[in-house]
Amino acid sequence: MPELPDVELYKLRLDDHALHQEIARVVVSDARILGELKERAFVARLKGNRLEGTRRHGKHLLVQLANDGWLTLHFGMTGDLRYVEPPDAEVPYDRVRLVFERGSLVYVNRRMLGRVGLSEDADAFVEAEQLGPDALDPAFDLGALSAALDGRRDVKAVLMDQAVVAGIGNLYADEILFQARLHPKTPGRSVDKARRRALLGKIKQVLETAIDCGAGAEQFLERLPKDYLLPQRHEGGVCPRCGKALATLKAAGRTSYYCPRCQKEPA
Ligand SMILES: [Zn+2]
Repeated sequence: MPELPDVELYKLRLDDHALHQEIARVVVSDARILGELKERAFVARLKGNRLEGTRRHGKHLLVQLANDGWLTLHFGMTGDLRYVEPPDAEVPYDRVRLVFERGSLVYVNRRMLGRVGLSEDADAFVEAEQLGPDALDPAFDLGALSAALDGRRDVKAVLMDQAVVAGIGNLYADEILFQARLHPKTPGRSVDKARRRALLGKIKQVLETAIDCGAGAEQFLERLPKDYLLPQRHEGGVCPRCGKALATLKAAGRTSYYCPRCQKEPA
């Protein structure tokens, strides 16, 4: 499921292949992905237009149009963004396709949780979605993290709250907590200042490492540092640090993987 590192790689893919070319055709294969937006209005806005630049905010990809506003992409649980040549190359679960002269940009989504939309203004979109600062933005700093930890929630729920920090989902929250040696159920307010500082550092480091290793691509798990939890995040997985069998629990409605020895339960 696409989190910040995956969406950053979609952004780079779009930047590399799909900017500054006229959109010859727009093919909407399943208009449900547009939500309330009318297919006819969506196609009219994009056809003959060009994608001029990209901005990622958390798990959202915002694409500036040469004429009039922004294309907004959110990938839900099973989304992806592909670039294919020739332009009519088939892609499974193709929902929206922007066709250029030599290739196509294809928004893919098997389970249809996600959204393709239009917005007049990127900042207004971020505000309307009630997104906090992007996890890799310097605006997400120790003060912002600390303010959120001072509430009543456990640390995993804080990390996954997009209004606190945009971009972290279940998988990367688990990796960050493992790297920071924090149990997922640790109450935020019990984390002292030194550990908050360390946690902030791990948030940035884990997300940047995942981007550098090609998040979501083939061989991604093999490329990660040897002490990463992600490749072991399955039944029978063991701690890459101490070898103990990983445990699971439900936190913030999702299954957490953690090492019961390295991530001690809060007293
Ligand atoms: Zn361990």
